Amino acid sequence: MRREKFIVVHFGELWLRGRNRNDYVKALLRNINERLRPLSPSIERSYDRILIVPKKEKDIPLIKEGLSRVFGISNYKVSYSTRPTIASISSLAERLMKENRKEIGSLRVEAHRSYKLHRFMSDDIVKAVLKRAEKLKIKASPKDYDTEMGIGVTKDHAYVSMERSDALRGLPVGTSGRGVVLLSGGIDSPVAAWYAMKRGIVPIYVHIHPFAKSSEALSSKIPRIIDILSEYHPHYRAYFVPAGMFQIKAAKTGRYELILLKAFMLRIAERIAENEGAKVIFTGESLGQVASQTPHNLLAAELGINMPVLRPLIGMDKEEIIAIAKRIGTYDESIKEYMDVCSINARNPPTQMNAELMKRLKEEIGLEKIVDNALSKAKTIER
Ligand code: ATP
Ligand code: MG
Repeated sequence: MRREKFIVVHFGELWLRGRNRNDYVKALLRNINERLRPLSPSIERSYDRILIVPKKEKDIPLIKEGLSRVFGISNYKVSYSTRPTIASISSLAERLMKENRKEIGSLRVEAHRSYKLHRFMSDDIVKAVLKRAEKLKIKASPKDYDTEMGIGVTKDHAYVSMERSDALRGLPVGTSGRGVVLLSGGIDSPVAAWYAMKRGIVPIYVHIHPFAKSSEALSSKIPRIIDILSEYHPHYRAYFVPAGMFQIKAAKTGRYELILLKAFMLRIAERIAENEGAKVIFTGESLGQVASQTPHNLLAAELGINMPVLRPLIGMDKEEIIAIAKRIGTYDESIKEYMDVCSINARNPPTQMNAELMKRLKEEIGLEKIVDNALSKAKTIER
């Protein structure tokens, strides 16, 4: 009998989305297809899971690697199929236990029948498999276990899986539309971009750079950071916008320069969002991390902006953010030296701002004109 090896993908929270569920599953299928395209496995939906049959068995690690970066997946399991009889199931289970003996540790066996008319119960399967485990001196432990063996039985097949990999969860990218991500060369905003994608957003990156020409920003580390983020979704557009005139005009405002810089960035983001059909802006701010990130100043910077400014990192501390940056792969680029526009910032920034003052300062420096000018000198890249 052919022992077929394949991967079962379980959705994340998609079951929550009642009516829209089919669209979400379609988006997930599309994203998985795109991610695994070079390996051209067969990918199909089967009820509330997706089955992936590799072209060659040696593709499996690559498929797992790909799936580990697709949002909207709860977990995936490498599985084997056999005939739906106790004898076939237990001999397949035994073979798998032998192959993986060193890694198993203590074992829990769980069986589930989707088709109930076989002449055995789930418990009978578990007992039969545990008997084989005992023979191999593998310790059974239903509560505190290292490995779980999952067995599923349908009318014509039985599936056995040994390893379950937890995935990223979240929503398939694309299901929440587009969002502008204000991306700096720092540690935080790439992590914020990742969280935006995790909630189904297709990112439109906006980076404000200090160079005379936008083409200089294209050879900085920023495109490399974007490239790393594109591991989690291949499509993006990125705008590189010069701070240019802003730096000259705002310098005159002294201690207000930094907060005006934030207002400038948000206005640029909003203008690009309007152009791109994006409905939301993301930043990497977290509350109280620096003087400009007090509640007052966060509000002052976004006065006059007519779309939500979301800050996925708002409640995280730096250590947590760093741990995530390392996990998602952006950290090493983020800590490389870079002359970000924020390095021009003022000493002793105000910790309280009000709407009147903000309005006056923006008019004084002619913010809208500076924005027009900066946008006219922007460069974009896309994939
Ligand atoms: P990060 O680590 O993301 O740079 P930070 O801790 O340095 O954040 P700030 O310098 O106050 O904090 O920046 C706050 C947010 O403003 C950033 O997370 C990013 O979203 C946005 N931002 C900062 N600098 C730039 C820039 N040069 N271009 C685009 N957005 C920026
Ligand atoms: Mg920064």
